[in-house]
Amino acid sequence: MPNERIVGIDLGTTNSLVAYMEGDRPVVIPGEDGLNLVPSVVALDENGQIVVGSAARKYLIETPERAVYSVKRLMGRGVEDVQDELKLFPFRLADDLAAGEVLRIKLGDKTFTPPEISAFILRQLKRNAERYFAAPVTKAVITVPAYFNDAQRQATKDAGRIAGLEVLRLVNEPTAASLAYGLDKKNAETVAVYDLGGGTFDISILKLHEGIFEVIATNGDTHLGGDDIDNLLITIALHDIQGDLAVDVRRNAEIVQAIRKAVIDAKIALSSEEKATLDVALPGGGRYQRQITRAQFEQLIQPVIDRTVGPVRQAMKDAGLTPKQINEAVLVGGSTRIPKVRQLVQELFERTPHSGLNPDEVVALGAAIQAHILAGGSEATKEMLLLDVTPLSLGIESLGGGVVKIIHRNSTIPASATEHFTTGVEGQTNVAVHVVQGERELASDCRSLARFDLKGIPPMPAGLPRIEVKFLIDANGILHVSARELRSGKEAVIRVQPSYGLTDEQVENMILESFDNAEEDFRRRQVIEARNEAETMLAALEKGRNNPAWQQLSSQERSNIGKFETALRAVVKADDYQAIRTAIDALNQGTMHLAELMMESAVGTALKGQNMDTADVGEGPESPHPIAQAEIER
Ligand code: ADP
Ligand code: MG
Repeated sequence: MPNERIVGIDLGTTNSLVAYMEGDRPVVIPGEDGLNLVPSVVALDENGQIVVGSAARKYLIETPERAVYSVKRLMGRGVEDVQDELKLFPFRLADDLAAGEVLRIKLGDKTFTPPEISAFILRQLKRNAERYFAAPVTKAVITVPAYFNDAQRQATKDAGRIAGLEVLRLVNEPTAASLAYGLDKKNAETVAVYDLGGGTFDISILKLHEGIFEVIATNGDTHLGGDDIDNLLITIALHDIQGDLAVDVRRNAEIVQAIRKAVIDAKIALSSEEKATLDVALPGGGRYQRQITRAQFEQLIQPVIDRTVGPVRQAMKDAGLTPKQINEAVLVGGSTRIPKVRQLVQELFERTPHSGLNPDEVVALGAAIQAHILAGGSEATKEMLLLDVTPLSLGIESLGGGVVKIIHRNSTIPASATEHFTTGVEGQTNVAVHVVQGERELASDCRSLARFDLKGIPPMPAGLPRIEVKFLIDANGILHVSARELRSGKEAVIRVQPSYGLTDEQVENMILESFDNAEEDFRRRQVIEARNEAETMLAALEKGRNNPAWQQLSSQERSNIGKFETALRAVVKADDYQAIRTAIDALNQGTMHLAELMMESAVGTALKGQNMDTADVGEGPESPHPIAQAEIER
């Protein structure tokens, strides 16, 4: 689809958004409710229908067993990985999970994997965009935290596919934010991106040179954010109310929820006002009211925001930079609207942070810019390249259980590196390649990503085979591994399927299932795709008529093609998928012989006319770009 819009999506822990490029400016697409943010909450209603966003929130309180939030925390993770999350969040996992199986979360009487739940959110964003454009949207750029590992990135891509979106690129959130501020247009800059959201804190240090972004260090705290501030205020309110009332209000979910809402309203008000009032209706007609001044609030939250200092210092240390060497600071995340947080960031980096864009929208805006670049972009963005960093070292297990690191943490991606290995035993004809991720020295302490065998090595004395293991991390942060025995040329290649990933088959099934809920979307897309295919065929037929091969067809064949063509033209504009499909297939059959003849003559011409000049790589769009390849091969 030539003019299809590619959207940028921030799939957040607390809130998600979709944006796109309007002219040369990225804008957020609002939902039906007019709001830009879609809370990342999913519920299953009494009729078995999925509800997403603000509408799903009431289920969190009324029927919590039918709702889930913060699912991003579970993406690409296994049961043993998420024990800390299970203690802190009311995730309800399926009871029958086998070891090593993908997690499933209960919503009412059904269970869903984290990518499926994320896909519900993505589908809502897709729908919002489709309503806005009055046209289908099938391609997206999605952002992920810079520290997301391979499994988490794959899970995010899976979520996109399940939602019917082709994920053209995963972009790190801090990179997207820097892009939104146009920092790529400045040369030789160092940028610190401080992201304090609802439940997570991330600090990333990026380097820019000649329009290229490079994330050089990341750090953070996966349990720190606006929720902690809310909880502090809730505790105070509960304490007050408890003193006034005889009942135990802590057990009353409805009151706690009403308090939560009041607390968040007050918190938000305090970002722009000097004082705010906590105001909660109590059972029995009473009211709880308490005024909070900005100064009291700041004193209360100081310990929370101070917890960001350690990770910031560590990231700067890892990057080998002092605050003076940081040229720009960028604020991301709703909680950076708090003036006290801004002040802290200013102190940490000794400069005023960028704050012109809404901090909870800036990541989606950057994703939209990246989407625009991938779509071919404009003159201004054409040259731009995005580089990110791999957060953890990658290596393989060596004999005895040690780890040989092949790509080190904080390496810029795309990245590739090669190490040589050999055998340990006389006449050993295969090696088991165990790919691991992490900083620890023993493979058993690292995260196991994949295992595969390289077989068929000719028997040789131990230590003689030369086994070259090559790691390549592509632009999405996904790892490809190959192993080759150089003396025999035996090779094995895999794309790493993460330990807690979904199989391709599972993803396919989920896509099919998702159509049950989105039949209308599916039908619409089918028609559009069939129509495009038909237009392409009709255009190709025009060319075929001018090809000498046309004259070689019998008059019967030519007349048949003419009939099939007329039939296809008659239905191509209609909304009937089956009719278009049938007409395409008929024309396909009818032109088979023509295609063969054209192919033969093309091959003949190529063989005859070939000399050094004409055999040179052409300049058409299909020819490979040798320079980009060299970048990757570096
Ligand atoms: P995430 O990236 O975690 O999905 P966001 O960037 O949307 O989340 O941040 C959400 C958090 O920001 C919530 O805790 C919300 O209460 C907080 N927040 C939003 N606006 C304000 C504001 N004006 N003042 C203080 N906190 C805010
Ligand atoms: Mg965020």
